[in-house]
Amino acid sequence: MNKQDRRDIRSLSLQEIEAVFEQWGEARFRAQQLHEWLWKKSAISFSQMTNLSLPLREKLREQFSLEAVQLRNVQQSADGTVKIAMELRDGRLIEGVMIPDGDRSTACVSSQVGCSLSCSFCATGLLKRERNLDAAEIYDQVVLLNEAALRHHGKPLTNIVYMGMGEPLLNYDQVMESIQRITSADGLNISPRRITLSTSGVARGIRRLADEQVRFNLALSLHAADNRKRNEIMDINRSNPIEEVIESLRYFREKTRQKITFEYVLLDRVNDHPEDAEQLAALALDLDVFVNLIEFNPVEELPYKRTSSVRRDAFAEYLRKRGVEVRIRRSRGKDIDAACGQLANREENSR
Ligand code: SAH
Ligand code: SF4
Repeated sequence: MNKQDRRDIRSLSLQEIEAVFEQWGEARFRAQQLHEWLWKKSAISFSQMTNLSLPLREKLREQFSLEAVQLRNVQQSADGTVKIAMELRDGRLIEGVMIPDGDRSTACVSSQVGCSLSCSFCATGLLKRERNLDAAEIYDQVVLLNEAALRHHGKPLTNIVYMGMGEPLLNYDQVMESIQRITSADGLNISPRRITLSTSGVARGIRRLADEQVRFNLALSLHAADNRKRNEIMDINRSNPIEEVIESLRYFREKTRQKITFEYVLLDRVNDHPEDAEQLAALALDLDVFVNLIEFNPVEELPYKRTSSVRRDAFAEYLRKRGVEVRIRRSRGKDIDAACGQLANREENSR
């Protein structure tokens, strides 16, 4: 069989593998063994699967491909953050980040190559969306970042955030399947409570998450609590205005009983005025959310500046006084362009 005709073994469910093995006259439990190699042990070749017979491994190699994401480059920041570049089977490159913080280490994974949404402050938004990642490619990033956490930090990952490149809710099925595998006992067995999906506000996707009663955390990248202002910095707001997104979040909270987080990147003199804090407080109190104030990470081609610490603290203080739960998120991995909104791999992908 030609290489390109072979199906990626990891696109098969356990049931599908069982059906293939039945046809081949293999015992049923062999399918479970193979599945474990693929997902629990993160094998990158059939030859590693030593509890399967040689002829079976050979047959698998003939009929299927096993194309794990390959590690291409590793950079470590002065603050311990590790950024890795990974090559996909079609040669495209993506980036992922591992952020150590006390006892925690968080993996920041990508859901798409590029992004179709072009938020005006985001480096990923400068790229066009090239394609969605599939579930196995998202899963592989977690596996590789887990290895980075073990190597550089001596401990496995504790948390996963879908805050790398791309809009996860515009790649809904594959993102959900990746989370299913990450949380499954047959996979990495990480609790959904330790996973956060961040969205720029795809109301339909949020409703779908609610209907499926997901158990992971949800964060909305709000960045402006006023439609006119949000339209200017986030194009998606034109089709998904704040009221619609808030309604979908209310529905999410009703269905899942989970507390939601607002992400708010402070852009100097754009969304950091007292009236912005006032509008944000009203929304945050109405929906009873946590607010993460995020330091802006400068992107060379973009005109925005980081809000000064004085303005930032005044903004946070106002929210606190109004009774909003606020955290300030300092930027990490700046020296290696590993911070949120800086993942791009521009040169490589434009080659
Ligand atoms: N597309 C999703 C998830 C990926 S972006 C989303 O937008 O939520 C992850 C987070 O990084 C978002 O909150 C995004 O607004 C933020 N971000 C983008 N550019 C940034 C920058 N230059 N500095 C700081 N945060 C940024
Ligand atoms: Fe895409 Fe999120 Fe960047 Fe906006 S902030 S361009 S949605 S990755």
